[in-house]
Amino acid sequence: MRKGQRHRGGSILKGLQSRFLPSSIRCLKLLLTFQTRSDRTDNTTFTCIRKWEMDAEAAKILFESTILPAFKVHYSAMDDKTQFFVDEENNEIDGAGSPGLVQLSRGACDEPDWLVNFAIAHETAHGVVFLECNAQGVSVPQAQDYGRKKHEAWADLIATKVLMAQLPDVWALVEAQLHVLANKLGGSAVTASHPTGNKRVELIREYASAYVQAETPKSKGFLRTIFCCGSAPNNPVLRREKAFNSCFKKINNSTNF
Ligand SMILES: [Zn+2]
Repeated sequence: MRKGQRHRGGSILKGLQSRFLPSSIRCLKLLLTFQTRSDRTDNTTFTCIRKWEMDAEAAKILFESTILPAFKVHYSAMDDKTQFFVDEENNEIDGAGSPGLVQLSRGACDEPDWLVNFAIAHETAHGVVFLECNAQGVSVPQAQDYGRKKHEAWADLIATKVLMAQLPDVWALVEAQLHVLANKLGGSAVTASHPTGNKRVELIREYASAYVQAETPKSKGFLRTIFCCGSAPNNPVLRREKAFNSCFKKINNSTNF
């Protein structure tokens, strides 16, 4: 049973972390309350869970062949040599991301594929938050206290943007499970490091909705068409960008997580 095996420390990965991730964003325990898995002794259930598990090599291939290339489309300046690791000693749903390094826990890899994809995208997004802040003219907050919560909400937003734009099939799987994601992320439980799970999913849904609306702009009235007085750009790419910028800045200005 994994529940009794949560121990950390002493691993090579841990050493790498302290060496290369002095200012990384560690994604703390995404509330194991919702994944107790006390039914692992049931053979049928165990078989079902087993097929979800992703070995480290498969997770690395997923990152290098799918997630990273998708991010590069939007963030060409990101580190080409971004490395991916799985912390096999960490059985919680956990991860870390910073420029040049993405890490996922064994516990996260054991989750269903949609969540593994989103978790990798979220951790990868942490490594480009500073690029997005620079592009938006927003100062990068310290990753502590309230600034930390902004980093988390931005990582969700960026992950959602990249999945929606580059990997729509993956996004469709994630979107269908957003209600589950809210619980996995803690529901209404308040933590010092992350916005509540409900708030995170609310922000994800808000952006996803704005993204979809940007695909099909409201029709302009006859006079507005003639005089071109609408503020929405005609180009759907620009409209999507505007929707993203609006959500990004809303998080920056938010005082309610
Ligand atoms: Zn995070």
